[in-house]
Amino acid sequence: MTELHIGLILPDVLGTYGDDGNALVLRQRARMRGLTAEIHTVRLGEAIPTGLDVYTLGGGEDTAQILAAEHLAADGGLTRAAEAGRPVLAICAGLQVLGESFRAGGRVVDGLGLIDATTTSLGKRAIGEVASTPTKAGLTSALTEPLTGFENHMGATVLGPGATPLGVVDRGVGNCDRHGAEELPDASAQITAEGAVQGSVVATYMHGPVLARNPQLADLLLAQAMGIPLADLEPLDIPVVDRLRAERLG
Ligand code: GLN
Repeated sequence: MTELHIGLILPDVLGTYGDDGNALVLRQRARMRGLTAEIHTVRLGEAIPTGLDVYTLGGGEDTAQILAAEHLAADGGLTRAAEAGRPVLAICAGLQVLGESFRAGGRVVDGLGLIDATTTSLGKRAIGEVASTPTKAGLTSALTEPLTGFENHMGATVLGPGATPLGVVDRGVGNCDRHGAEELPDASAQITAEGAVQGSVVATYMHGPVLARNPQLADLLLAQAMGIPLADLEPLDIPVVDRLRAERLG
């Protein structure tokens, strides 16, 4: 592959905390390896192309994420792409929208069902740094480096057996399944889970943007998009990223 096509999906409704930076990071890391890489921005109401190489969705406010869920369900393009094995990165509200259902605007809203996850709402907002150790589930099996990000959510997400956490929380809250336990359907199931991995979908509560803070995760998605093993990607030496990680994980 010499051309990489990156989908930036609904940044107008799912794009808090610079999450559109994840697409920029993928594009830049591809270009630094000599690939031609383009971002295809798809806004609310527009059809989602099914033939892109990798898709990114960001976080959003409750009302915005309901609009996103309705559009994604009606369009069907992202579901078809994920079911065809295209890698999808979803952040925060993106994670919730790809799950079975979430609570927003005082009601339960259907998600796309790409992740076996149910999101309820806590009385307390989780805000701050989050760090986790990769579980190496499914397509993330090659991850070896700690994950770092920034979380800000009211949603508490419990994973079902079809999904595996992306990480085990070392600091912060993550999926929020150990806080406000009385409000959760099965609080004992995954005490320290962060994010989810299922099929070709990687989802997380980490903003940051997460791929700027976690270059190994960025390269993993890039390798998936290119259909090659992570080890085949030429390493990149970017000292500022190392400094950022040392500061955030230290
Ligand atoms: N609205 C969702 C929540 O509060 C997601 C927030 C976000 O994407 N940052 O849980």
